[in-house]
Amino acid sequence: MDNSRKECVVGIDIGGTNTKYGIVNRSGTILSTGSLPTDAHLPFSDFSSRVTSKIIQKINLLESPHHCMAVGMGVPDGNFMNGMMHDPPNFSWTNVPIASSFSELFKCPVVITNDANAAAMGEARYGEAQGLDHFIEITLGTGLGSGLFVDGTVVLGHSGHAGEMGHIIVDYGGRQCECGLSGCLEMYVSNKGIMRTLKECLTKYPNSLLHSIPMEELGGKEIDLAFDQNDSAAIACYEYTGKMLGKGLATAVSILSPEAFIFYGGFSNAGERLLASTRESMNHHLMDVFKETTTLKISNMKEGTGAILGATALAWDVADDKIKLNY
Ligand SMILES: [Zn+2]
Repeated sequence: MDNSRKECVVGIDIGGTNTKYGIVNRSGTILSTGSLPTDAHLPFSDFSSRVTSKIIQKINLLESPHHCMAVGMGVPDGNFMNGMMHDPPNFSWTNVPIASSFSELFKCPVVITNDANAAAMGEARYGEAQGLDHFIEITLGTGLGSGLFVDGTVVLGHSGHAGEMGHIIVDYGGRQCECGLSGCLEMYVSNKGIMRTLKECLTKYPNSLLHSIPMEELGGKEIDLAFDQNDSAAIACYEYTGKMLGKGLATAVSILSPEAFIFYGGFSNAGERLLASTRESMNHHLMDVFKETTTLKISNMKEGTGAILGATALAWDVADDKIKLNY
């Protein structure tokens, strides 16, 4: 390695729509960030070459010369143990050896974990979970992801896929999920799930303010505004969503007894509008010993940076030989 160059790592957060990245130095300062469309319908090789050339170009443009020590990636359905991305919904890539492919392109070690685990690691090091040994990060977006933090470390489980809370069943025989099961939490508490609930609520409340906005322009912001004006459809939508979310959270509390759930991204911006009914439902579905023992919080990490920072934390651990990779 050229000793005149400073050390940096790269954190990449792959999303269904956009892929965001950050170049970070030893002290955790983000030197450069960017985003590009994932274009998950195109071949994986198109994606990997676009992302790599863009980031290498950015590293070369930094004010002083830097050497990339390692790359950390938050990957939907990514498995830390074997470096594979396992046929994620919303992507056309099937099973991809994503870590080794990017390692060849970047010419340095690449470590991956699933995107929710990366967000949990960012939360633990830089966000609301600093100092917490037991918490669960819930990422809201196209789906519902979760990263389990127990005794100060992320739980991977035997298969490496531990923490798929989006697919806890909260309504047997309920809404059909893309995973093949039905009644999964994700079908009620994700962008898609909440918008479906809203549609159902709108048919029940013909006087809702939200009828004046075309369906394709409706999102969290509009629902929040209507909720604040006591709109019946918006209130019913968040009450139902909170009820289902609370059921899912209660299941996790009974197993892991976390100190907090921390919500990151998407509909977490609704804050107490959604969390009030969630808290009530969670406590309702818990036995006495667990009631009121777990708090619900909104992440203070800027949307988009959480998973990047978590991925860079992992990358430094690899660069410093604290983690040995099998791929
Ligand atoms: Zn499912």
